[in-house]
Order: sequence, then C-alpha cells, then structure tokens
Amino acid sequence: MLKPVVNQEICIGCGTCESFCPEVFKIENGKSGVIAEECGNCNCQEAVDGCPVSAISLEEK
Ligand code: SF4
Repeated sequence: MLKPVVNQEICIGCGTCESFCPEVFKIENGKSGVIAEECGNCNCQEAVDGCPVSAISLEEK
C-alpha cells in the first residue's frame, strides 16, 4: 500500500489536498497533516497532482 506523506516545510496550507480527500488530509496550524495511514476511497493521486507546490508524495508502507 502507498501512504501519502506531506513535506511540511514545503506545504503552504492551501487546503487543496483536504478538499480532495478529507479522510486523509487535515489542515492544522496552516499546514496539511496526514491523519490516516492509507486512503480507502481513492489513492490520493488527485491530491498529489493537485498540490500547487508538490509537497505530497506517496511512499511504500
Ligand atoms: S495541497 Fe499541498 S500545499 Fe496545499 S495544503 Fe495540501 S500539501 Fe499543503
């Protein structure tokens, strides 16, 4: 399985990932955090592709 990972040094807190997949991403203190180990609804590729600063990667668990 692939686990989404957010590079918080790059993230600008725009909320795009959370709007694509609120099950996995949550904005807190102006940064996106990953709140689920994996996504059951999508593979989060849309969030990866939609991030304006390419802060999200998918890593093998
Ligand atoms: S889409 Fe990218 S920049 Fe925007 S909140 Fe998510 S990780 Fe951060």
